[in-house]
Amino acid sequence: MPRVPAFYSVNEAKKAASHRVYHNNGACPLGRDIPQNERKPGDVGHQLCDDCRRLNNLDDLDNLGR
Ligand SMILES: [Zn+2]
Repeated sequence: MPRVPAFYSVNEAKKAASHRVYHNNGACPLGRDIPQNERKPGDVGHQLCDDCRRLNNLDDLDNLGR
């Protein structure tokens, strides 16, 4: 699945700063669950979400195989 411009949920602000994440993969289930009206562009210093990291790694492996 394609990478998308980094975005995060406005609700991340409710979490401890060290637990806030952003998403950048269109296949991420957590990212897809965030309603459009709760999305903000950018990563604002948050950590990349674990699912996005995993999906990005799979994409990289895919690309190597081509
Ligand atoms: Zn994600």
